[in-house]
Amino acid sequence: MNKVILITGASRGIGREIAITLAKEKNIIIANYNKSENKAKELKEKYNIDIYKTDISQETQCRELVKYTLNKYKKIDVLINNAGIDKNQLITEVTKKDWDNIINTNLYSAFIMCQETARNMIQNKKGCIINISSIWGQVGASMEVVYSISKAGMDGLTKSLAKELGPSGIRVNSIAPGFINTDINNIYSEEEITQIKEEIPLQKLGNTIDIAKCVKWLIEDEYTTGQVISVNGGWVIT
Ligand code: NAD
Repeated sequence: MNKVILITGASRGIGREIAITLAKEKNIIIANYNKSENKAKELKEKYNIDIYKTDISQETQCRELVKYTLNKYKKIDVLINNAGIDKNQLITEVTKKDWDNIINTNLYSAFIMCQETARNMIQNKKGCIINISSIWGQVGASMEVVYSISKAGMDGLTKSLAKELGPSGIRVNSIAPGFINTDINNIYSEEEITQIKEEIPLQKLGNTIDIAKCVKWLIEDEYTTGQVISVNGGWVIT
């Protein structure tokens, strides 16, 4: 592929799998991480992935991440907004701090990263942006109201940017995962997971590779834009 690909939240889970999959395809990968320094270093040593520490919830740090990438590699071909957090709580328990944490990490960061990266992609008259949203942005989740809002917001970002940036040759899409086996789902008991599997038509949880394969396809594709591609085993069919 030979592309310069910037991925947020890439030290663990889905982001890590995407980084490794795309590094194996001979791309230059810039993997953003925040706290998992050892896991990030492993990406650098094993897969020759460039790593950069950024707290993505901080606007200035997002802008610095893009600046670092452009100074070093002169262009960004693909941006993948993957970093995200969740918190299960009733609406009556949500504080302003919870709101700011989730919205800034999941949504505002994606907006800023798109804004900074788009400047370069517009000049180059090409680019691909992929926002990792969630099925809960599509259909809403009980006790995850802020998370659902943040992910629905990402899908809105995807659709409007696809229209605005399409004439500049830039494609923008969301991938909305269902239940993927990563740390973010550690809150669920064995019993709850068995119940969830039964609700999924394909009767199994997703793996990080299922999302990475979809990302790879979207990068190679040339005519898909403004879409929310839901990789969820049939759990949610809209
Ligand atoms: P995860 O918890 O394993 O990974 C989340 C990643 O985001 C980590 O690498 C973490 O370091 C990073 N991150 C969080 N806050 C950050 C910050 N302030 N600055 C920089 N990085 C930060 O979970 P995951 O399942 O790999 O999640 C990846 C994305 O996929 C998230 O946006 C999540 O909402 C989304 N998603 C996951 C599932 C699922 O079932 N796993 C379902 C739908 C959507």
